[in-house]
Amino acid sequence: MCRHLAYLGPPVTLAELLFDPPYSLFRQSWAPRDMRGGGTINADGFGVGWYPDDAGEPVRYRRAQPIWSDPTIAELAGVTRAGAVLAAVRSATVGMAVLDNAAAPFAEGRWLFSHNGVIRGWPDAVVPIAAELPVRDLLTLDAATDSALLWALVRHRLRSGADPGEALAEVARAVTAAAPDSRLNMLLTDGRAVAATVLGHALSLRETPSGLLLASEPHDDDPGWRSVPDAHLVTATVGRARLRPLW
Ligand code: GLN
Repeated sequence: MCRHLAYLGPPVTLAELLFDPPYSLFRQSWAPRDMRGGGTINADGFGVGWYPDDAGEPVRYRRAQPIWSDPTIAELAGVTRAGAVLAAVRSATVGMAVLDNAAAPFAEGRWLFSHNGVIRGWPDAVVPIAAELPVRDLLTLDAATDSALLWALVRHRLRSGADPGEALAEVARAVTAAAPDSRLNMLLTDGRAVAATVLGHALSLRETPSGLLLASEPHDDDPGWRSVPDAHLVTATVGRARLRPLW
């Protein structure tokens, strides 16, 4: 299954987050340490979104190829600094398209979103939930994938003014009711706060006095990493992370 991470804190280069750690997202693309629920490598694309400044919208770079086969991201990562980043490497669920647009992060305005997991019984199980969305949203999905639909469902709630944590939790609950046993690890950030669900896959949190990292797996042996329990919602800003049960 895909691997993702979100970072908030002092500006760092993208290389410091994606390439340099011993078990970095780059390394996780071919040698993840935890791939519960399927897949062996994350070679069906990757993406990174970062905020060049505090006030503006994020920039994204997404590709439908293994991160190790793209020399551009390595060069870009060495010289690009940001204090808020969301990144992912993708292992496409069988039957789902491998396209640039199917790789996270999905975005709108200041929002960046990623999903690690699968909707069981796709697509039939979630037809009734998808039918609640405006037709335009369905016609303009990033890709015909479960992750893109999850983003449309979350975005719909954000547009109506929902709190980001509540938007993720509501979607996780609705999709689980319609498609039991779905794996729904989601990450959402506006560059200032992060919300995440842990449902079916692992997620680890590392807080420092000036920053925080949420990642599918710890990218180094720092003892500060702690594992978030399953079926939990995380809402975090620097210096303040809260964990709550999803139900
Ligand atoms: N099902 C999603 C996709 O195909 C996410 C895959 C994953 O987590 N491995 O993109």
